[in-house]
Amino acid sequence: MSEDPMAASTDDLLRRLRGFQGASGRRPRPRLHELLDGTRHASALFIGCSDLRVVPHLLTGTGPGELLVLRNIGALVPRCGCTEGDVHATAATLEYALVAQQARHIVVCGHSRCGAMRSLYGGVPAGAPHLAAWLDLAREAVLPAPPDAQVLRRTEERSVVLQLVRLMEYPLVRERVQAGELALHGWHYDVDDGEVRVYDAESGEFVPASRADPEPAAAYARRPGAHKPAAAAWSS
Ligand SMILES: [Zn+2]
Repeated sequence: MSEDPMAASTDDLLRRLRGFQGASGRRPRPRLHELLDGTRHASALFIGCSDLRVVPHLLTGTGPGELLVLRNIGALVPRCGCTEGDVHATAATLEYALVAQQARHIVVCGHSRCGAMRSLYGGVPAGAPHLAAWLDLAREAVLPAPPDAQVLRRTEERSVVLQLVRLMEYPLVRERVQAGELALHGWHYDVDDGEVRVYDAESGEFVPASRADPEPAAAYARRPGAHKPAAAAWSS
């Protein structure tokens, strides 16, 4: 394995693939096939940034068959509302997670040093119009202040809350949350020290996971009508 993943060559990728299939080149382990029999369902959908440092299965301690993962730049959720002909990856994934997999939890996970959040203040490179349009989905999280470390952290947290608000705009999500069948969770992962802080719906603040209330009622928008961002996380 190359020490520098960024320098991975085709040979590196093939070597890793062969490692996955085993030294004899046989097919993936039987356990993976067991997951295809339709009896196993993932209980959670993880929406995270595409950043290399965010590794959902490491953060959640999950293995094959335990976690649905949707990753994109910034861990963003587009507004609900497809028009005919639209292909909407997020909506399709939500429907699959909730209808087919009967997921009971959705996690939106932002992180520190997020390039997507920083670019909201500095712009994106020329020649990336799709990226610029995509990042506008987090524009409401921007604060009217120079982007120092504290402002960027606040922006990252505000974006997580904003995506939770967007999720609640999907009827499929809102109805299940209000019925107590689904809980939404906002996380912020510090890539420097590994701490994950969890959005607390009551206080509107992100608190260390060790102090987070494990009760479902503490998750975001458990109560009907309580899907506005709490002041502490949202205020400038
Ligand atoms: Zn990021």
